[in-house]
Amino acid sequence: MFSDIIIEKEKTYRNFVKQNINRIIDYSDGYISEDDLISLLLNTDIDLEHLVMRSKQITDNFFGKAILLYAPLYIADYCVNGCLYCGFSAKNKIARERLEFDEIDEELMALKALNIDSIVILTGEDRIKSSLEYIGKAVEMARKYFSEVIVEVYPLERDEYAYLVDKGLTGVTLYQETYDKELYKKLHPFGPKRNYKYRLDAIERAVNASVKEVNIGPLIGLNPDFNFEVYITNAHAKYIQDKYTNVEVSISFPRIQSALSKSKSYIMDDKTYLKTLAVTRIFLPRAGINISTRETPNMRDNLIGLGITKMSAGSKTSVGGYVKKTDNSFYEHKNRQFDINDERSVEEIVRVLEKKGYRPEFTNWIMNPK
Ligand code: SF4
Repeated sequence: MFSDIIIEKEKTYRNFVKQNINRIIDYSDGYISEDDLISLLLNTDIDLEHLVMRSKQITDNFFGKAILLYAPLYIADYCVNGCLYCGFSAKNKIARERLEFDEIDEELMALKALNIDSIVILTGEDRIKSSLEYIGKAVEMARKYFSEVIVEVYPLERDEYAYLVDKGLTGVTLYQETYDKELYKKLHPFGPKRNYKYRLDAIERAVNASVKEVNIGPLIGLNPDFNFEVYITNAHAKYIQDKYTNVEVSISFPRIQSALSKSKSYIMDDKTYLKTLAVTRIFLPRAGINISTRETPNMRDNLIGLGITKMSAGSKTSVGGYVKKTDNSFYEHKNRQFDINDERSVEEIVRVLEKKGYRPEFTNWIMNPK
């Protein structure tokens, strides 16, 4: 009877799956395939410790025991888009700000005093309030203080990215939010951001304009199918890496905070998050993996050494946050998109890294080899 042998069959099945998954995790001859990436993502019974230890080993091999520290600089928060998951949607009548150039200069000096050498300039998405020329001038000013200047602004044309590169831009961060085209349409009911393809292709326009580093990712929690988002993000990063071999590609997986979202959202638990980062490291050994202050201090500390390569530190997320204000109003406004969870200073983050045997780096050693 089959009932006599079913236990044997079950054992055969489980052994095969386990051996196959271990073969993928321990694969050391170059890169794992996209099929293997999907197998790792879909396996619900994975040995997380094995996976994470392998991720740690690969990260140490490719990046050494160093973590780059960077800080965001919010210079404006005007926005014309209607993203359903964000309190800064143009539909919400809230007070908005834009820094004057002398105020930007004060912010830059304050950040420099913290030893930061890598910054991300953010504006919200409004081509009129935060014009290309305004962003260009901010980039030009920032390059006088910092060796790495990245923008997280609305997607641009290739010529416009070239204009910013001319002003000293080194990198572009642009999140697709979700790679699911239908869901994307639902979540972006109006505004230029509604154009999925224009946003998706922006990273390549930036690279073609000689931007040296790009950071991409989904907003985890918009799509209940986490594996789809993680797979496509990895595939997107690999496509850029393979096609433009001299470009530094980084990935972020920011997690949405459901209580603050106006659209339905889905929480990725910590174990799945850890698995996401480790699987990404195994698929993309030389990609940067960023972790922002959306994660808790405890989570951020635990992730050191397990795959991440960049951390924000001492972040102020309000417009004028380093000089004029001490709050993090971009996130803390009552209509905010999400909470900021780690408000520790740069010195505190440095101490945590050193205690864990990691070297805090302020200058991007890949972009600026010594
Ligand atoms: S997510 Fe960005 S583009 Fe969308 S409403 Fe918020 S600030 Fe604007």
